[in-house]
Amino acid sequence: MWLHRLGAAARTALTVLYPWRCLNCAIGLPADHAFCPTCWGWIRLVHSPLCTQCGRPFASRVGPDHICPQCLQQPPSFRHARAWAVYSSTPSGSPQPLRQSIRRFKYERNMRAGKALAGLTAHHFSLVQERDAGQAQDYARVLPVPLHLTRLRWRGFNQSLILARAIGQRINTPVDPWLLSRTRPTPPQTQLSREERRANVRGAFQVNTPALAKGKRFLLVDDVYTSGATVEECARTLYQNGARSVDVFTLARVVDL
Ligand SMILES: [Zn+2]
Ligand SMILES: [Zn+2]
Repeated sequence: MWLHRLGAAARTALTVLYPWRCLNCAIGLPADHAFCPTCWGWIRLVHSPLCTQCGRPFASRVGPDHICPQCLQQPPSFRHARAWAVYSSTPSGSPQPLRQSIRRFKYERNMRAGKALAGLTAHHFSLVQERDAGQAQDYARVLPVPLHLTRLRWRGFNQSLILARAIGQRINTPVDPWLLSRTRPTPPQTQLSREERRANVRGAFQVNTPALAKGKRFLLVDDVYTSGATVEECARTLYQNGARSVDVFTLARVVDL
């Protein structure tokens, strides 16, 4: 149904009939729909060919997946990172439904947005696992990237835990929000270079019960992969404590760095 072509009266009627709204433009939708067709059209998915390690999509749309120059030069500690869709780090002229809905979830504490985004995360994680069938894993635990206590108190919830729970439920794997913790608050990373971001989070995480990390395979979940510095540091900390493997999945990924 092409909702945007309907007249104003019909749209109002739909909004009454369907209290469920598009996360971006707020038009009424049938239940459990995250975005209307127009807003869906604005979301750019992460497509192959992409870097087999960090998941960065290449500009060329042809050819096989392969390792990117950055990972060749400085291999990340995690085994591989994948994401569902592209996240624009800066506001731009064109609509950015995913950026908008993630912001509503994180900063406006919009839990309906959170529920819809968690559903999308779990669904697309399953699709990515099917696509990378050779790499399908039996994870011991799904781990959210932790927030520092001060940030957690301010926000009231950890957005990554909500996404991790949806994946855990989908793949029937326990979620452990306590294994990793953030030992110090880290200043916002938006203005920092890649190297500065790494330094910013260096030593900022700890494994609370090393015996539970030893020899285990983990899936680390976050909302947005920006430079990869945060998940990189979480993975490094897990490996230092004997983890067998760490993979990363994020709802979205910045590609315009
Ligand atoms: Zn919409
Ligand atoms: Zn890479």
